[in-house]
Amino acid sequence: MQTAASHLDRCEYERKDDAWVEEQWSAAGSLLLSVDETGHVACTDDRRGVADRRPSGDYDPQRHYLLGRWRGAAVFAVLAAAEPSAGLRTLLPVLDDAGRELVLAAVALVNWHRTSPHCGSCGALTRVTTGGIVRHCDNCNRDRFPRSDPAIIVAVLDANDRLLLGHQVVWPTGRMSILAGFVSAGESLEQAVRREVAEETGVRVAAVRYLSSQPWPFPRSLMLGFIARAAGDELNVDGVEIEHARWFSRDELAEATSNGEVALPGSGSIAQGIIDDWRTGSLPRPEG
Ligand SMILES: [Zn+2]
Repeated sequence: MQTAASHLDRCEYERKDDAWVEEQWSAAGSLLLSVDETGHVACTDDRRGVADRRPSGDYDPQRHYLLGRWRGAAVFAVLAAAEPSAGLRTLLPVLDDAGRELVLAAVALVNWHRTSPHCGSCGALTRVTTGGIVRHCDNCNRDRFPRSDPAIIVAVLDANDRLLLGHQVVWPTGRMSILAGFVSAGESLEQAVRREVAEETGVRVAAVRYLSSQPWPFPRSLMLGFIARAAGDELNVDGVEIEHARWFSRDELAEATSNGEVALPGSGSIAQGIIDDWRTGSLPRPEG
């Protein structure tokens, strides 16, 4: 799971100096990453890496957003179509941790600028400052920052360490994953875990413990991963979001995935990481 240190130096202090940011545009080794309106990222021909493109033309602080320093060089992002390009669902499984962090940051930042050009208070058009991570409203004289929407994702275990997997109504037949849902206004993460599990499957959660997180810019979620212990194993699925749910032992899940009955989430997702850790017995106990 993604608990390691960051590979991207976001240059929080240096980027306050506009002249320094502009120098990075033409500095040796700097890169420009294009992200289009659908969140697809310019990539290599084999779709297994990000495109190795140098910034060209004049630096435009309203369009070119400095992500930071990555592998020793400055990287900018821009909203632009590119060919070839690929979505995060294609790239995340094949990139290494450093590559994943870069494309997640690029997609999240470009998407925020694309969808939030106006001030949330007065509606005036804002302008980009601080090398691309802030939008300033001159009318309110206030800074606006990128938003993430918190969502919980939870591995629920019963008393015998069986894992609860659900099938969402909107998913293709056979696909199953651990439970997830958005955090409501004014709700703590632990409350959201208990509410979502009870709403979707009727299971009451006894113990809950935080594991790790992953940005998931579809369009701007932050997935917060938990492990929980169920107070009982009786299931009563809601039929609205979750169509059916089932407890799996490790052997049962291995059998169900090998015979094609169950398809698990794609690699590179936090869901897959948590399920893999459960399968190998490396998740901590929910009781702490
Ligand atoms: Zn304003």
